[in-house]
Amino acid sequence: MLVVMRRGATAEEVQQVCDVIEEMGYQARPMPGAGRTSVGVVGNDGRVDASRIIPLAGVQECIHVTKPYKQVSREWKADHTVITFANGASIGGTDVAVMAGPCSVEGETEILEAARAVKAVGAGFLRGGAYKPRSSPYSFQGLGLKGLEFLACARDETGLLIITEAMDPEGLAAVSEMADVVQLGARNMQNYSLLKLLGKCGKPVLLKRGLSATIQELLLSAEYILDAGNPDVILCERGIRSFDTSTRNCFDLAAIAVVHQLSHLPIVADPSHGTGHRAYVPSMARAAIAAGADGLLIEVHPTPERALSDGAQTVSVTEFEAIMKDASIIAQAVGRRLAPAIA
Ligand code: PEP
Ligand code: MN
Repeated sequence: MLVVMRRGATAEEVQQVCDVIEEMGYQARPMPGAGRTSVGVVGNDGRVDASRIIPLAGVQECIHVTKPYKQVSREWKADHTVITFANGASIGGTDVAVMAGPCSVEGETEILEAARAVKAVGAGFLRGGAYKPRSSPYSFQGLGLKGLEFLACARDETGLLIITEAMDPEGLAAVSEMADVVQLGARNMQNYSLLKLLGKCGKPVLLKRGLSATIQELLLSAEYILDAGNPDVILCERGIRSFDTSTRNCFDLAAIAVVHQLSHLPIVADPSHGTGHRAYVPSMARAAIAAGADGLLIEVHPTPERALSDGAQTVSVTEFEAIMKDASIIAQAVGRRLAPAIA
């Protein structure tokens, strides 16, 4: 439930509402807004009885949140969440953010070369996994801590913001210390103990949709992170399993529109994992921006055929350049702007 206070309600009135909510056995989450304060009620698993709250001084109305998730819902917060970074970049506002780079960090010179290339084409974020969730234990598993160090070097040289995946609590401690955005991969979307830790990691989180997760399950996973104290969550549509083998996954464009209706959180699109083939990445990147995606996550490699993971879906720098040109035109057509390249 959301308690909406009247315009001009005093701090004492807000406090009294919080006290009553706590007395009822729930937790109160005051949220000061531009015009008025709202107080969210969490900790309930069913409908909250509003009869003790409605008569309190300063209360305008009580809104029952009808969805199983609360804090990520539009009912809870009508305005889009915009996540901002120290260098002025943002995700969730007018700018469409671009995160690009290889699937995996393969070495220092390799990631530096990729970083320079994606920066030159206009990406604001460098992606690359140091910890890799691979289907086979015999596939390249990532460079771990060394990979994080190489990413840090790439950031130092280029100024690109870094997004990289954490797979377990130990890795999360290292990743959240170093990265600008912590990625939680599709295979861990429902790792609830990790989700709770992400709520305390102190960095924005990019939460990828699980391989067979519904949009509601994606939003419930995001709810764990917000409920544990981290409001900076970026959702990511990366395709879901289907019966069709023409693509690696079924890239669910509609999820972008659905998420924007149900939630205030930004959603970015990953047409690389969404399709699994580099030939389909440009058209799906265009479509995602047209559908309202707040950003793109694209696998780019200076020599995709030599990539240590996900080469088939990885575009070359030249292909990435063409994607960026189209993305800029489409962003403008839908009232957005491709985030400006960093200096
Ligand atoms: C990745 O981004 O390289 C990755 C492993 O993605 P996903 O978790 O979506 O499979
Ligand atoms: Mn990958």
